[in-house]
Amino acid sequence: MSIEEDSLSGISGILKENDFETVYNSWKKLERGFIAPSTNVALRTPIKWNTRRWIKKNYKGKLRHCHTVTRPSYRVGLTPRILRPPPCYLLAFLSKVHQYKLSGRLDRSQKITQQIANGGKLCITHTCGNGPGRNKMPGDICVNPNHMTLRTYQYNYEQRRCHEALEACTTEAERQEFFDSKKCTHFPKCF
Ligand SMILES: [Zn+2]
Ligand SMILES: [Zn+2]
Repeated sequence: MSIEEDSLSGISGILKENDFETVYNSWKKLERGFIAPSTNVALRTPIKWNTRRWIKKNYKGKLRHCHTVTRPSYRVGLTPRILRPPPCYLLAFLSKVHQYKLSGRLDRSQKITQQIANGGKLCITHTCGNGPGRNKMPGDICVNPNHMTLRTYQYNYEQRRCHEALEACTTEAERQEFFDSKKCTHFPKCF
């Protein structure tokens, strides 16, 4: 089982003891690079961000930035009873619920909450194709919350075809050709 397939069980593990606001605050701490006092040398290593890790144009020609962070997982601010710190991309995704609430987009916030509650066959998909799996190291997973949505496994699997085609492109013209071909039927559109 890949990390992606396990993502909803990871989410319910976090939410068992933390509400969305707590998760959001933890995510904000990670964004600021906050390190908890620790005797573990690895955990005291400064957190570095790369907010320009991959920059790609989407079908509208708009630039999309993938973010990565040099920490496989993070749990500062979360209830310490969480034994396994969650991967950063899970925090990123869950932070959206409270972020939407803060910006007054309650319908979006409620939709994600509902999707999580229904759980089951859903998983986190990356519109940018830089999700976990396929020899990805934890620091190589995109943690830009805007690039993540909850979809079915089948949908996630089908997105791979788009991303493989896009990765095979060597020029912007080829990427544009792919977008124009309308082969991507996903929403939001793969890029
Ligand atoms: Zn991304
Ligand atoms: Zn697609």
